[in-house]
Amino acid sequence: MREPLSMAAEVMPSRKKPALQHHHHHNANGQVSSGHQKSLGDEAEREVGALPKLQRCPTAGHKPDKYDDLEDLEYPPALYSGMEQYLPGDLLSASRDKKISFLERILAKYRPNGERARKHREYRERIRYNYQPLHEELYSLDPDRFFDRTFLDAVKDGSEEALRKIITEHSPGVYTFNMLDATFCSMMLEEVEHFENWALEAKVKVMRPNTMNNYGAVLDDIGMEGMLNELMINFINPMAAVLFANVGGSSLDTHHGFVVEYSMDRDLDLGFHVDDSEVTLNVCLGKDFDGGELFFRGVRCDKHVNGESRPEEVLEYSHVPGRAILHAGRHRHGAKAITAGQRTNLILWCRSSEFRELKKYQRDFSSWCGECLVRRKERRRRLSNAKRQLAT
Ligand SMILES: [Zn+2]
Repeated sequence: MREPLSMAAEVMPSRKKPALQHHHHHNANGQVSSGHQKSLGDEAEREVGALPKLQRCPTAGHKPDKYDDLEDLEYPPALYSGMEQYLPGDLLSASRDKKISFLERILAKYRPNGERARKHREYRERIRYNYQPLHEELYSLDPDRFFDRTFLDAVKDGSEEALRKIITEHSPGVYTFNMLDATFCSMMLEEVEHFENWALEAKVKVMRPNTMNNYGAVLDDIGMEGMLNELMINFINPMAAVLFANVGGSSLDTHHGFVVEYSMDRDLDLGFHVDDSEVTLNVCLGKDFDGGELFFRGVRCDKHVNGESRPEEVLEYSHVPGRAILHAGRHRHGAKAITAGQRTNLILWCRSSEFRELKKYQRDFSSWCGECLVRRKERRRRLSNAKRQLAT
């Protein structure tokens, strides 16, 4: 039985569908191996990070942890202890952090939206009034210091030809290019670490970037919303308009920006999923690591999201610090386990209100869904065969 693929979503604003995110591994020259010809089915069974689910039957004799000493729990401590016996077997002996994160994802479904919005507002305010940034200069966009020269020049030129020149297309719809300056990457890594240390000391529970990552932080929450919006409008939109016009790439208007962290004592990998975005920008910031390759399996609409992939859609990509990946949010993907070191990636989910609104009235997505396209071609072929037969 195949588990359904996950939809990575923001944790805060309530959306009907839960959702999440992805990552990769670095390799000095960023080569891409054109992955195994594995079907989505195989991949899905191994890799899918579906929404958490409790066991139907409690584990008899399980001795739950106590949670009374923790200040930042979202729910009464006894609730966590009480639910523990219903955890899936592999979580029974996990750390409290892991169990909390799992249980809170389940419980979040039952919390009224108003309450969540209020918590989020308070969280942002606490950061705004108490957090002292390490690198102030990261909070307003400085293209000359942030970006790689080749990227900056191509965007300044603005022509489709100049943009395409710096881009590599690894498989249909997966593009990479050198984007971030090395100094900017290390400053961003330091800022995130600084923020996490502050949160630890101030006993502020860091809100997760999405429903699938247990580590990382939302950059918009720590004051980078304006900077990231400018980055999207002035530097990603020109590229998305050329590469992703069929999925709203020319009308991106809002974003969700965050970092995710992988290491042996944090998240190791990321299940197979699609993003809650029209276009996703994913840039590796560093540091040193092995493993953690991103894998892709083709773009699909809601209806076909769990379907098979075709050989040409199968791709595995190794992260290179500073190098960006741009892909459609509906491009199915995941990240393999990191095997050593630490990997942090900056991710920007770019959205188009216009595209989302128009999508409600459409039933055929053959302009971007690989499966819809195959079916449309098949219908046309049958139609023209029938016509030919009538004519003779
Ligand atoms: Zn489709």
